[in-house]
Amino acid sequence: MNIILFGPPGAGKGTQAARLVEKHGLRHLSTGDMLRAEVAAGSPLGMRLKAILDAGDLVPDDVMVEMIAGCVAHAESARGFILDGFPRTLAQARALDAMLAEKGRAVDHVVVLDVDEEAIIARIAGRAAQTGGARSDDNAATARKRLSVYREQSAPVIPHYEAQGLVRHIDGMAEMDAVTAAIAAALGG
Ligand code: ADP
Repeated sequence: MNIILFGPPGAGKGTQAARLVEKHGLRHLSTGDMLRAEVAAGSPLGMRLKAILDAGDLVPDDVMVEMIAGCVAHAESARGFILDGFPRTLAQARALDAMLAEKGRAVDHVVVLDVDEEAIIARIAGRAAQTGGARSDDNAATARKRLSVYREQSAPVIPHYEAQGLVRHIDGMAEMDAVTAAIAAALGG
């Protein structure tokens, strides 16, 4: 089973992904975590990435597709994936579909967490306070930028998968446990 967890920054994808991993034994692929690990490693690529992340922009599609390709190539060894933060553009979605098709696999579910934008800004600012600024892109100004990037570049991924009948919308403003329950129901229990 391959699941895409989709939604704007701060929608709670990471929390819900971790719960799904536990429940279904799927592999959690968080491109944000992968990118932050690269930044932390201090490689030349990491330094380039840090500037992009801090600006709230998207990392170029070719870099992201290559990052995910390695994981998909070993799809056989996993029961499936939870993709958290990928695909974030239409081009990435098409590349993912093609990569999976080559392995005789496909995206099975796209779970979209719907949230209120102003609440998201507050949530991200709260997360920044809680983690003591562990994420240098977690501040109100960058959050607004990430939201507009989401609207313009990422939201078109939804109709792409709607056309395949794979999308389920979940109220991401509900209590965390209620969101988990709604996702479980959307995935068939
Ligand atoms: P959030 O969903 O809270 O914004 P993520 O950890 O998913 O957090 O992403 C953090 C940043 O990493 C994004 O703002 C973007 O710069 C970069 N990023 C993550 N995934 C992708 C992707 N698939 N394509 C391009 N950039 C990405």
